[in-house]
Amino acid sequence: MKNIYGYTLESLEQYFESIGEKKFKATQVFEWLYKKRVKSFDEMANVKKETIAHMKQDFLMDYPKIAAKKVGKDVYKYLFTLDDYEHVEAVLMLHDYGKSLCVSTQVGCNMGCKFCESGRRKKVRNLKTQEMILQLLQIEEDLNTRITHVVLMGIGEPFDNYENVMDFIDILNTGKGIDLGARHITISTSGIVPKIKQFMETKKQVNLAISLHAPTNEIRNQIMPINQAYPLEELLPTLKEYIKKTNRRLTFEYILLDGVNDTETCAIQLAHLIKGMNAYVNLIPYNETSYIEFRKSKDENITRFFTTLKKHNIQVTIRKEFGSEVDAACGQLRSKYEEA
Ligand code: SAH
Ligand code: SF4
Repeated sequence: MKNIYGYTLESLEQYFESIGEKKFKATQVFEWLYKKRVKSFDEMANVKKETIAHMKQDFLMDYPKIAAKKVGKDVYKYLFTLDDYEHVEAVLMLHDYGKSLCVSTQVGCNMGCKFCESGRRKKVRNLKTQEMILQLLQIEEDLNTRITHVVLMGIGEPFDNYENVMDFIDILNTGKGIDLGARHITISTSGIVPKIKQFMETKKQVNLAISLHAPTNEIRNQIMPINQAYPLEELLPTLKEYIKKTNRRLTFEYILLDGVNDTETCAIQLAHLIKGMNAYVNLIPYNETSYIEFRKSKDENITRFFTTLKKHNIQVTIRKEFGSEVDAACGQLRSKYEEA
């Protein structure tokens, strides 16, 4: 049996048609789920008793449990226990522009980036659509608040779980659903070229962020194995095509790792690599983790990297650091919890 929160509006319409009902039932049910946030089929007051009985037979409506919650300055971190006792995390960050939720898309990740906890642990499985939706619903309920932005930057590679992630975005985006504007949603990818191509054809207004983290194949190969499959000479032209097709500004994420990718030469190489693209660089201070040896760049090197990019007319920001006190980097809380 499938969980009701895994259905897009369109697939729920198909369901109702398949049981001989009118498809507008789907809109009613969506409003109960996502506007009024009921937690049982019986509360859907304008739906006929027989239809409710039918739905109860066909759908589950259960929630992952909150296993742990940590609160820091402007940050809330949640760990969820899934049906099969796997764990994923989600982090809510309070920015001046809104409340941004970082969701997980997989249990672990097969991309194997050397600096990343989720990569160290490998992929166990994809998250189902409902498991992504319910991270948001549970946290909104727990904090009695509304989330304004969603970033797919938790555990997992979103483009390695393409279909479920697209359905998740669909439900987030639907007016009758969670009604979050596409421009308030950001997908972050390590650079799976064929999926970026597929994604650009959907013409969604969703933001795309690329985890670049290095200006040359030589360095990128060392820290991101995906670069051997899709090296820079394939990735960069694809991204240029993306910008041209969608007319949207791209984000490059760049973690600064001490002595690895934070030299002045790296900054200059990066500037040349992305020159002229409608893109900006988000420099990320590395969140050190207990199980991995990389160190965060020294403050003066972060500043030098930033100024060098500026000098070369690259738009650049340094990401505000959130919640190192709550193990906020991707996968850290899960690791601590499971290995404790
Ligand atoms: N798999 C996708 C999305 C999840 S990772 C991707 O790689 O883009 C989200 C971001 O967090 C990526 O840019 C990733 O490189 C970064 N990240 C991973 N571990 C980190 C750490 N310890 N400190 C800071 N950023 C980290
Ligand atoms: Fe996977 Fe992203 Fe971590 Fe790389 S950085 S291992 S792609 S979650």
